[in-house]
Amino acid sequence: MNLWKKNLIDIAPYVAGEQPDKTDFIKLNANENPYPPSPLVTSAINSFDTESLRKYPDANAVPLLKALGEYYGVPYKNVFAGNGSDDVLALCFRAFFNSDKPILYPDITYSFYPVWCHMLNIPYETLPLDDDFNIRPEDYARENGGVVICNPNAPTSIGRGLDFIRMILDENKDSVVIVDEAYVDFGGESALPLLKEYPNLAVVKTFSKSRSLAGLRIGFCIAGDELISALRAAKDSYNSYPLDSVAIAAGCASAADEDYYRSTLEKIIATRTRLTAALREMGFVLPDSSTNFLFASHPEYRAADICGYLKTKDIYVRYFDKPRIDDRLRITIGTDEEIDALISALQEYTSGGLNPLAGR
Ligand code: PMP
Repeated sequence: MNLWKKNLIDIAPYVAGEQPDKTDFIKLNANENPYPPSPLVTSAINSFDTESLRKYPDANAVPLLKALGEYYGVPYKNVFAGNGSDDVLALCFRAFFNSDKPILYPDITYSFYPVWCHMLNIPYETLPLDDDFNIRPEDYARENGGVVICNPNAPTSIGRGLDFIRMILDENKDSVVIVDEAYVDFGGESALPLLKEYPNLAVVKTFSKSRSLAGLRIGFCIAGDELISALRAAKDSYNSYPLDSVAIAAGCASAADEDYYRSTLEKIIATRTRLTAALREMGFVLPDSSTNFLFASHPEYRAADICGYLKTKDIYVRYFDKPRIDDRLRITIGTDEEIDALISALQEYTSGGLNPLAGR
């Protein structure tokens, strides 16, 4: 045995939604936005001065921080940007969670959190959601080294209000509380108004979902001075130039197009309402969603079977083979056309007529 092998990292990495190696299919498995980014993003990229690429980008993406600061009504020194919110969250974990006590987050939530804990040797404890998949804020009133709350939560799609976040913050004045708001723009309530009261709150957001820019990798954190300076120190101890110049320019353009952003959100929310009703009509059970996806189970059919059946129709949704949620499908809201195709396929399946994979 080569002894160096025992020094290699031993970690189960995060698994993202499948990216099939073909073009003609309906992709509802990665919570991507079905609509293109703002036309202003297209112009910003088309008119980008490529000569400038010989220079390093702005180390802190200051033009983007300024655009975000203005957009959210906070000083730009309180904004930190990174390569997607995964990058920002990983740096938050590194910068904020250095206690011997475990950090806390729900048993069912974004499955990258345990991966970062393993990667960074952060002890953690998961607290079960209740039977309706709600986070129980009272569970977070215990000693800990930090708290992470995804709100609205993924993959459950359930969003909670500010009172709920405030309850968790009030019990955790001695820990940093990260609120992951990847999906908040689709109808959740942001914790940003609480920043003034809680210097230990970090709100993390992304351009990947509501701004259709998953491929460009723009995420950011808004927090008080101390948390932002810890984040900057963590970044500058790892990789000082996280956002490239094109992403900075395109991000600024996206932030400037409020009308387009609002109209895209409205379309997705309307399609979500329609799909929720259609699924319930077919007997699916699902909570009201505050996100761009639905989390549905059917009392008569196995989620894994439905997922397999939909693949035969070139429709990809997400199935998690995990305790408590292996009876559920996570379905991203697509265009109306894509969702019509999904509804027809599911109607066919649940009415039994063409079902090649038997229900139970
Ligand atoms: N948080 C949650 C809850 C997510 O689902 C995702 C997307 N997988 C992210 C953060 C990261 O998104 P991104 O890195 O594209 O900003």
